[in-house]
Amino acid sequence: HAAASPDLHEILRRTFGYAGFRGQQEAVIGRVMRGEHTLALMPTGAGKSLCYQIPALARAGTAIVISPLIALMHDQIRSAHAAGIRAASMTSADADNAATAGALRSGELDLLYVAPERASTEGFQNLLERTRIALFAIDEAHCVSEWGHDFRPDYRALRPVLDRFPDVPRLALTATADQATRADVLRQLGIPGDGLIVAGFDRPNIRYAITLRNNGSRQIADLLQRLPGAGIVYAPSRKQTEDLAAQIARTGREAGFYHAGLDPQRRAAVQAQFVASENMVMVATIAFGMGIDKPDVRFVIHAGLPKSIEAYYQETGRAGRDGDPAEAHLFWGASDFSLARQRLGDVEPERLAGEQTRLNSLAALVETADCRRAILLRHFGEDPPATCGNCDNCLDPPKIVEAGELARKLLSAVYRTGQSYGIGHVEKVLTGQSDERITARGHDALSVFGIVDTAEAALLRPLARTLLARGMLAATEHGGLMLGPEARPVLKGEQTVALVEPPPRARRTRRSRGD
Ligand code: ADP
Ligand code: ZN
Repeated sequence: HAAASPDLHEILRRTFGYAGFRGQQEAVIGRVMRGEHTLALMPTGAGKSLCYQIPALARAGTAIVISPLIALMHDQIRSAHAAGIRAASMTSADADNAATAGALRSGELDLLYVAPERASTEGFQNLLERTRIALFAIDEAHCVSEWGHDFRPDYRALRPVLDRFPDVPRLALTATADQATRADVLRQLGIPGDGLIVAGFDRPNIRYAITLRNNGSRQIADLLQRLPGAGIVYAPSRKQTEDLAAQIARTGREAGFYHAGLDPQRRAAVQAQFVASENMVMVATIAFGMGIDKPDVRFVIHAGLPKSIEAYYQETGRAGRDGDPAEAHLFWGASDFSLARQRLGDVEPERLAGEQTRLNSLAALVETADCRRAILLRHFGEDPPATCGNCDNCLDPPKIVEAGELARKLLSAVYRTGQSYGIGHVEKVLTGQSDERITARGHDALSVFGIVDTAEAALLRPLARTLLARGMLAATEHGGLMLGPEARPVLKGEQTVALVEPPPRARRTRRSRGD
């Protein structure tokens, strides 16, 4: 019977004006139509909204969409209305919640957006009892997991609501979930393991490059010389966005800055300028980019370490949405990792393991001599080829040096000098250069004094950086070095350390500290 099985392609064409489904959309929609619980893991821009909008239209009743942000809900509702879909939200920012409740009960809505804290109230659940529900869509579903980077306790209160309607299909959606988070989301929301659908994360037109920072603004300026088109530079602080934008503007390039400290009018204006421009460099904090529709962003540059691999993927993913070649450049320093590891001290104990893993994955990505894309895609659970031909390491493979023995010497020297000196002092001890401080402390009498020869000495600073990034070394409050939580296996000779051979320039500048 035609009316009982609405043609999904027909809805796609007529309501949305699209010729066909993309990627895994059809698989996801198929499961929802069969009433099966599903977790859809799809990169930003893959078209997640359509995965619940089409079943909302094709199934009887209203789709209840759980969403964390009022601004996102209102965006979604605007575009739903434009397609002729009956959508509304019930939030503190809506004046007509009573009318919306009435419309919901009488079946006049295709989509209803609510925040998790409202969804779990008794009042709302009573309303649902009197409503025909087509499906539950849980947007940004990684928020339910403490493993995720954006845990929201309100998401935990959803499970009893869902369980009250066991026959209503659940569709959880997210763009960011590593293996641990993913398993946790499934468990928390009561979705079976075979309900997981992962869409392709590869963005083949983006070229990835990751470089050690020695003079960040100089390196970025040089890079911009050869990068035409509009692009984003992510900087870690508000002040840096302003300084860097001014610097770039002085070179004659159109530049602007954006951060959460600007008033809304100013933000809207600079964002509109960027969307319209074909050559503008937008220097911004990560507050910039969400929901911006600019397919021809030609590059994304990170002036410092992003928060996680997920964040890196999402932020670089704003480049090249039009499918034309685009570039992603990341500049990092050992100080980024020391800072991030210091911040772990403030993390709640139950989240510590997750945050540590996240940081270690990031360290592995920036330090690797292997294909960057392969590491990214493996992180998202894919099984990519070992090389991609479109990242810095594939295009210009770095040399590897085995530095397990040198790492052991360095860690011992840090330990024996009392875990409070900087790399400069430790380097002198290891290479046997006496000075007043060394003789005064008796460090020239230590067994580690002078055990590193000049050839190896050039590797000490890059090695210290690597050991810091991997948690084998840690920074003291006063900028000295101490053993990190991962030091033991290296000291005992059970674990070796492979090092990407530093470029000749970094070897010569003995005072360069990676910043
Ligand atoms: P996500 O939420 O996954 O980031 P959206 O749902 O916002 O992605 O969709 C991203 C863009 O792709 C939107 O402009 C949407 O209209 C478009 N889109 C989604 N599905 C299709 C499709 N099958 N064909 C063409 N465009 C699509
Ligand atoms: Zn590669």
